[in-house]
Amino acid sequence: MKNLSTFFLLFFCFMIAMTTACNDEECITTVWYQDADQDGLGDSNVSQESCEQPDGFVSNNTDEDDSVADVPSLHAAFEAFDQESFNIYLDGSDVVIETDGLPNHNSPYWSDGHPLDIEPTVTSYASMAPGFIDDFNGSYTLTVPTVPSLASNSTATGLGPIGFAISGSMIYNDEEGPGIPIDNALPSLDFTAGHTGPQSYHYHLEPHAWSTDDDKLIGIISDGFFIYGRKCHSTGNYPTDLDASGGHISTTQHNTDGEYHYHIQNEAYAGQYYIIFPGDYQGTPNAIQ
Ligand SMILES: [Zn+2]
Ligand SMILES: [Zn+2]
Repeated sequence: MKNLSTFFLLFFCFMIAMTTACNDEECITTVWYQDADQDGLGDSNVSQESCEQPDGFVSNNTDEDDSVADVPSLHAAFEAFDQESFNIYLDGSDVVIETDGLPNHNSPYWSDGHPLDIEPTVTSYASMAPGFIDDFNGSYTLTVPTVPSLASNSTATGLGPIGFAISGSMIYNDEEGPGIPIDNALPSLDFTAGHTGPQSYHYHLEPHAWSTDDDKLIGIISDGFFIYGRKCHSTGNYPTDLDASGGHISTTQHNTDGEYHYHIQNEAYAGQYYIIFPGDYQGTPNAIQ
């Protein structure tokens, strides 16, 4: 009898586990706002709470008239993206973001003789990863909705680029290879926590070339949400209401209505580093090609 009841218990757990909504992670209710005109902006006066995103509802609540679709426009934050590396334009209700992948700052990873090449300080020639930044002069494209929405379920980040930094280069997560934590690669990171990899120059940690313990814009994650430094412009201090991905809804220096955005989490890693974005994506990730 005991074995039989154990069997039924296991079977029951298995069935529960098969339905993703009832997984180990508890259901997190989100407030969803009606988007009658389908412009990605929701009506703050018409809302409902649920775990799954209801049809016709979005996480945004800044639509002042939900009967007339707002004309898509480029987010003010894109003005902070490096003008030389980036080409950013609207395509219907999407934003196409193209970059050559080259950072707009000094690094020992530039080839000898390049005007931005410097001697290594934090790393050393012996510890540096193979390849120069200029080896990767290419084309990387990310297309996101002009108004991204939170997803019903979060998605784990993977290897390779997970977003674009405003410098022109790529944002990576906290892994250096399949199952290899970034620990192994720490000695190869330059003063701004960047190094070369098989595909591009990229950052894993708080990029000191332009952000150290502040609220600066870091870049855009592939789900369309912007990521800022460890502090939030809304309070001038470390946010205390972050979700598991370091995200929250508040005003920013680029949006006085308030919107969902990520922060570099203010938890020291290996005693002195701050990982930019280990994940998960709270929106729907788009491919970086
Ligand atoms: Zn790396
Ligand atoms: Zn914030």
